[in-house]
Amino acid sequence: MDKSKLHPETLALHGGWRADPATGAVAVPIYQTTSYQFRDTEHAANLFALKELGNIYTRIMNPTQDALEQRLAAMEGGVAALALASGQAASTFALLNLCSAGDNFVTSTDLYGGTWNLFANTFKQLGIEARFVSPADPEAFARATDAKTRAYYAETLPNPKLEVFPIGEVAAIGRKLGVPLIVDNTAAPLICRPLEHGAAIVMYSATKYLGGHGTSIGGVVIDGGNFDWEAHKERFPLLSQPDPSYHGAIWIDAVKPLGPIAYILRMRVTLLRDVGAAMSPFNAFQFLQGVETVPVRMQRHCDNAAIVAAALAKHPKIARVIYPGAMSGESRRRADKYLKDKKFGALVGFELKDGADAGRRFINSLELLYHVANIGDARSLAIHPASTTHSQLSEADQAATGVTPGYVRLAVGLEHPDDILADIQQALSKA
Ligand code: PLP
Repeated sequence: MDKSKLHPETLALHGGWRADPATGAVAVPIYQTTSYQFRDTEHAANLFALKELGNIYTRIMNPTQDALEQRLAAMEGGVAALALASGQAASTFALLNLCSAGDNFVTSTDLYGGTWNLFANTFKQLGIEARFVSPADPEAFARATDAKTRAYYAETLPNPKLEVFPIGEVAAIGRKLGVPLIVDNTAAPLICRPLEHGAAIVMYSATKYLGGHGTSIGGVVIDGGNFDWEAHKERFPLLSQPDPSYHGAIWIDAVKPLGPIAYILRMRVTLLRDVGAAMSPFNAFQFLQGVETVPVRMQRHCDNAAIVAAALAKHPKIARVIYPGAMSGESRRRADKYLKDKKFGALVGFELKDGADAGRRFINSLELLYHVANIGDARSLAIHPASTTHSQLSEADQAATGVTPGYVRLAVGLEHPDDILADIQQALSKA
């Protein structure tokens, strides 16, 4: 059987694993160990010199994480992946693996609030400039690019605007200029496959739909293996210049015999080694459980969200519904182009006519939906971004990300849609 031809739904169950080599266990065991016995000093030396790949220490690799990484890489159509402690660690590593002080990257303005803070403040502190541009104009990425631009960054289905990013258009601009596109696909696993549209790197907050049950924080970076770092080596000194922390290794040369994995291998053996934002084996196990059912859950999440969005559109207290399936023009064209089979994700925003007070009254009246700063739980969730996730941003930055005072965000879960709607309707009656 040619396993490379399996569908993502099948790989979610079978990718990266075929029974435990030590015990025959079918479910991936939790390898709760810090370290691994070396066969002898030569074996140890080979592992440290990367002459042989194998387990050294759980900060850098672990068999439970390895199964998760291989599974997610296979599902995404990538070549290799790196599991990390959180989605924030994943976006940080995705960029720090290419950028040093004095460099820049160009990012969409349509971002999760935490990512915005990371880019605007912490990266600035490191001397790395985030150049924010509107995704409404893909050419803005080209105009913001110079010789020190190391990457483009965007979210597939960014909340709260929920306007699908023009992945193919910006990836094509980047490929012409030698700049890889990194896509945060957190809100759209399976319904969007960014690598098929030209993205070079995909990352997830696994905390959300991949885990799916609101139990564990984690992240993952997936290397598409489709970007020619060597052809643009002057743009990527971290991959093409001798690395003093690794015996002067030049990653694009040193890793060549192992396949097109220079980017992700460097991230593991330098950034993860040095910064230590490792996913725990227990959380990797939790994510493996979530990933097995994510294809089925995403379908149901999306179907429930479509029902909720249609009902909200008819409500007299609501000024507008923000949902890709309810959009028109270019926004709708992008949703149809990049999201599969008219599955528009499970995030639904709406704007209450009576502004922030009504937003707060709605949230405080919910009885079934949880009021939490999260998305992608099996349970339905709601939040008022202006007073929570986006409250650190200036009013202008809030407006740029699409947050207005009366905006409420729902992350529609897997309950019976009639029960979700009943709670929303009763809360709206008090809003
Ligand atoms: N990316 C997106 C789109 C998110 O929604 C989040 C968290 O809400 C993150 C990244 C950060 O992930 P984590 O909370 O796992 O660090």
